Amino acid sequence: MAPWRPPASISSNPGTFVICRNGYFGIRLGNIAQRCGAIVHEVDSPWGQPVDPQALSDELAKHSRVKAVGVVHAETSTGVLTPMPEIIDVIHRHGAISIVDAVTSLGGHDMQVDEWGIDVCYSGTQKCLGAPPGLAPITLSESAMQVVKARETPVQSFYFNLQDLESYWGQSRSYHHTAPISMTYALREALRMMMEEGIEKRIDRHARVAAALRAGLEALGLDLLANPEHRLNPLTTVGIPEGIDDSQVRSTLLNEYGIEIGGGLGEFRGKAWRIGLMGDSARDRNVLALLSALEQILNANGYEVAYGSSLAAAQKALAAASPASG
Ligand SMILES: *Cc1c(COP(=O)(O)O)cnc(C)c1O
Repeated sequence: MAPWRPPASISSNPGTFVICRNGYFGIRLGNIAQRCGAIVHEVDSPWGQPVDPQALSDELAKHSRVKAVGVVHAETSTGVLTPMPEIIDVIHRHGAISIVDAVTSLGGHDMQVDEWGIDVCYSGTQKCLGAPPGLAPITLSESAMQVVKARETPVQSFYFNLQDLESYWGQSRSYHHTAPISMTYALREALRMMMEEGIEKRIDRHARVAAALRAGLEALGLDLLANPEHRLNPLTTVGIPEGIDDSQVRSTLLNEYGIEIGGGLGEFRGKAWRIGLMGDSARDRNVLALLSALEQILNANGYEVAYGSSLAAAQKALAAASPASG
């Protein structure tokens, strides 16, 4: 028997996309679009910088009929937040749909999906929402849903068939797949905790502990790698000082102090640490514990710092921005 081949209707090209890449997750977004068969044009910005609206506009002007533009709001590999409204405006002026990765920003930074005119916005439960990993909340604007409804060919993904998902989600409740019910309850509980604290307070808490962490790291003479105007609060990237062994520091932190920080991704591999303060872990006590451990480890490895110097800087930053978050 001849092997099964997808009918031409299924493998047909989903269209031309422009993907903004200013870090690892932007690169991944382009990779995903390519795997889905899209023609992908890339707009690259240097690591540590936000996406440049002018560069995006120039790229869009080169192509006719760009269907969608993908952009990462909070680039977790570099610690950079790209301001969305201006980017979305550029995308809409060129008649395309905006697809925004809000995996790290949702719950940790201001995120106005409808107000900013985002067409497709997706996130994850495991970052600043503070729920277990496993769900990807997604929302689509009216114009994005029109694109979905106007499809003439079946989408290549069974599970990401938004036409069928809509009727599963809507009144008819027609069967599409089995929902992860336990995850839905976990997300509900995480959201309930967020509402109890208040969204604004939660965003402020992320800002406050991030400011303290940065103050402490700078007091140790370390370099913060993200553009100072566009720094992410839930994740800070810091340069690894010369002569210091990346993996040794991270494994000592983990094994001796029970603190896990991330290594660099992509261009930043071996050059940066990524320190996450997300959701419930965005607390004063975690900043102070990390800085104190780091002082000891750096001193033990020949990078001399004055004991207590980073703690004093962090404590001052925390005091300047009350109230405490425990
Ligand atoms: C964590 C993260 C992802 C990936 O999430 P996974 O659930 O690990 O696939 C994507 N984009 C950004 C910006 C992230 O921070």
